[in-house]
Amino acid sequence: MHTTIPLPDWLETLNRQSAPFASTRDAMAFVLAAASHNSGDGGGPFAAAVLDANLNLVAVGVNRVVAAQGSILHAEMVALLLAQQRLGSHDLASHGHFTLVTSCAPCAMCLGAIPFSGVQRVVCGARGEDAEAIGFDEGDKPDSWAQKLIDRGIAVELDVARDSAVAVLAEYRERGGVVY
Ligand SMILES: [Zn+2]
Repeated sequence: MHTTIPLPDWLETLNRQSAPFASTRDAMAFVLAAASHNSGDGGGPFAAAVLDANLNLVAVGVNRVVAAQGSILHAEMVALLLAQQRLGSHDLASHGHFTLVTSCAPCAMCLGAIPFSGVQRVVCGARGEDAEAIGFDEGDKPDSWAQKLIDRGIAVELDVARDSAVAVLAEYRERGGVVY
């Protein structure tokens, strides 16, 4: 057996981004543009990227839950999987210091996946409550989820360009996108 995740062609183009970002805020703008594009192409309004220590893009992923018929296909999961395949390892930490930039704070599933991925820093745009406000289920997450990551040695930055991130969610709701 063999599993393939169907991903849109434009995502492959985005994954060829070669110049490093000037800042994680710049990377967030790139991620939010990907989320907006995805939401207009049958995907959910979420995107995430893995950056190396010099802020080079390793991989960008988008939410394809409905489009690719897979409940695990959240943006963070796709970005982490693409980054791990690109580096040839299940453990990003064995290849250096990596940051996950995500358009929205991780849901319960992605929160669970983050420590196993080997990323050492997570940068979030919208809050989970912003996704819940338009109907998405973020799952059962402890209120202290950020502290729990910090306790495991993973730095967390919240509310980076939150207003712009919320605007991407609002745009999806106005389009009448499926929520789950
Ligand atoms: Zn998730």
